[in-house]
Amino acid sequence: MSNPSRLAPAAPRVLAIAVAGVLLATLGSIVPALDRALEASEAPATTTLAVALPPPPPSEAPAPKEDWRTVRVQPGQTLGSLFADLGLPASTMHRMLEVPEATQLASRLKVGSELAFDIGPDGELRGLRFDAGETRRIHLAMEGDDVRREVIERAVETRVVVAGGQIRSSLFADGARAGLSAGVMNDMVKALQYDIDFGQDLREGDSFQIVYEELWREGERLRDAGVVAVNFVNQGKAYTALRFDRDGQSEFFDLEGRPLRKSFMRTPIEFARLSSGFGARRHPVLNRMRMHKGVDYAAPVGTPIFAAGEGRVKFAGWQNGYGRTVILDHGNGITTLYAHMSRLGSYRVGQRVRQGTTIGYVGMSGLATGPHLHYEFRVGGMHKDPLKVTLPKPEPLRGPALAEFRRATAPALAQLRRVGGVQLADR
Ligand SMILES: [Zn+2]
Repeated sequence: MSNPSRLAPAAPRVLAIAVAGVLLATLGSIVPALDRALEASEAPATTTLAVALPPPPPSEAPAPKEDWRTVRVQPGQTLGSLFADLGLPASTMHRMLEVPEATQLASRLKVGSELAFDIGPDGELRGLRFDAGETRRIHLAMEGDDVRREVIERAVETRVVVAGGQIRSSLFADGARAGLSAGVMNDMVKALQYDIDFGQDLREGDSFQIVYEELWREGERLRDAGVVAVNFVNQGKAYTALRFDRDGQSEFFDLEGRPLRKSFMRTPIEFARLSSGFGARRHPVLNRMRMHKGVDYAAPVGTPIFAAGEGRVKFAGWQNGYGRTVILDHGNGITTLYAHMSRLGSYRVGQRVRQGTTIGYVGMSGLATGPHLHYEFRVGGMHKDPLKVTLPKPEPLRGPALAEFRRATAPALAQLRRVGGVQLADR
């Protein structure tokens, strides 16, 4: 069923692997940092221990000393099982669960998160410490039968980072050399993916400048908070993307205030190989000449399928031959169809979905010889080739929205220009 002359090059796949590799490295460096942060805040007041003191008289009980044990949540563990493993009675846990943050912790215990238990010499629980979100640490102290709750606020600040790089080997390797995380590089690719095919268009000597935000807490870098502006010079032509929030959603625009995101994605699936084009062909299952009313993308079972454009779910269910199928209505007589899914996404018929929403997963339900997405694009009920159809242009910002866009993006634009010798997209 595949037509070798239509094979897409393998480059996008290589890109995907590079993303995953660097992402893992980034996560690896965050976890030990949290570990250190927990330990640092657990340090008991031990300064007096350095002074040689005479041993206390035996009748006098030693001042209670904190003894914190940090536990990292493993898959399958619950707050109840953590208490049991530490030999702590369930009754103690239930007393702590009267505190709302502890209830939330118990119901949403994340694998890999850390909890610290202060356990006394007789094995009794004296305190529990855990993070409730990025900015708050909760300390629960047992005082007799009561639980005292202390909230430790942890200030989070946003830092703006300006960086630049040049393409020498591959996008992600050169990004890493410029000190950029895979997340930031991914954001850049997403912002410019409609104008630059990062799998095929990159050339040695291409360059980029990027302004992005980082979240920091107590001197520790938490994570990237997204790209604010990016300029990419590809084969001598500059592309600029500026982030602007509209209706509570971040979007990227060009210098004129035109959305970079097109009304439709050309390909509603990532890193897939075009395995069959539009038009007359011999049907792979029926072995008869038939019109192929869409395009096929071969991809492993379970690969997410995206809504090609914003629209309303018109149909989600089983159709003869098509198997598990979703049809979206985008207005203006345009509908898209996605077939042979292994599984549908979670939404109801009639619901609006945004472009890029996962509407289902690749499978081989219905008449299919292997896992693939069959994708159709219809205008006024007529089948069109999704790879050739002229897609409507998105509306640019106008009037007050455009003025607000210019005001809001001016600082980022100035920062972009500060990265030496920047050639920006033409106005
Ligand atoms: Zn097909």
